[in-house]
Amino acid sequence: MSAPATFLDKLFDQGLLYDSGVDGLYGRSAVFEDVISRFEQLALNLGKDEISEAMVFPPGMPVPDFKTSGYMKNFPQLAGTVHSFCGNDHDHMGLIQCMAAGEDWTANQKITDIALTPAACYPLYPILARRGKLPEEGAYVALQSYCFRHEPSKEPTRMQMFRQREYVRVGTQEQTIAFRETWKQRGVEIMELLQLPHEVDVANDPFFGRAGRMMGVSQREQELKFEMLVPVNDGAGPTACMSFNYHMDNFGKAWGITLADGTPAHTACVGFGLERLALALFRHHGLDTAQWPEGVRKALWG
Ligand code: ATP
Ligand code: ZN
Ligand code: MG
Repeated sequence: MSAPATFLDKLFDQGLLYDSGVDGLYGRSAVFEDVISRFEQLALNLGKDEISEAMVFPPGMPVPDFKTSGYMKNFPQLAGTVHSFCGNDHDHMGLIQCMAAGEDWTANQKITDIALTPAACYPLYPILARRGKLPEEGAYVALQSYCFRHEPSKEPTRMQMFRQREYVRVGTQEQTIAFRETWKQRGVEIMELLQLPHEVDVANDPFFGRAGRMMGVSQREQELKFEMLVPVNDGAGPTACMSFNYHMDNFGKAWGITLADGTPAHTACVGFGLERLALALFRHHGLDTAQWPEGVRKALWG
């Protein structure tokens, strides 16, 4: 007897996602993308009167800014860097021979100026820093990016390439903390509109190694990260579909973003996992969007 179809199998069978043979790397159908763009519109409407600007980033960011983010110190296991062939004619011959022989062909693949973006807000901070001191009201940016994390998995919610939509607040401690509280509440309102079971809980990031465990404990104790959790996967705990993060003045200091008075800016961000939110909707309301509850359809399609 064959094993029962998993949620991922059903998504492939229904033609909502397309398998590539690599776990966590999938094509998206037009229906799947429509759900994502409708969700984005819903999220954008909630903050449209508050933002100072909106940006969309490509899936890569400059290596120097990637280094500044501390990602290699904290999460080297998840990071991805872009490499290209940097050899001469002779090396090229070797490359072709190695490929034909099924041998390692990567000797002349050298790192480029680009790293794959691990978190959608990272490319924003150096842009703000280059502008000089922030205005009195700080910055409030809506943004979107594809992100990469090397965490292959059979759980459809854990992709290697996925999108985050974020709101990022940069300003004083008071401004950033108030922003995060507002969005925790709005996150709950969104989940109620979408009729998804949900729970907000304190969380920590998967810092690498033994020293990293202490950082995770401290992040939790200081309540720097909260997640919006929704049950999505077969036989697994709930999945984080949104996160609400306060970075104190760590990024302000790292990238040199300063307030009008010259002190380092505080930053906070709310991240929406776009594929995860779409998957939660398909999980709870079925694989056919035409059959979704009236209220959910109205919230998304108007
Ligand atoms: P998790 O604890 O499940 O690994 P995370 O803490 O790494 O999630 P964040 O770093 O806060 O997540 O990223 C912001 C949002 O991006 C998450 O709330 C989630 O919705 C989404 N996200 C994170 N990792 C993935 C992934 N591998 N695939 C799809 N979406 C993801
Ligand atoms: Zn962020
Ligand atoms: Mg993670």
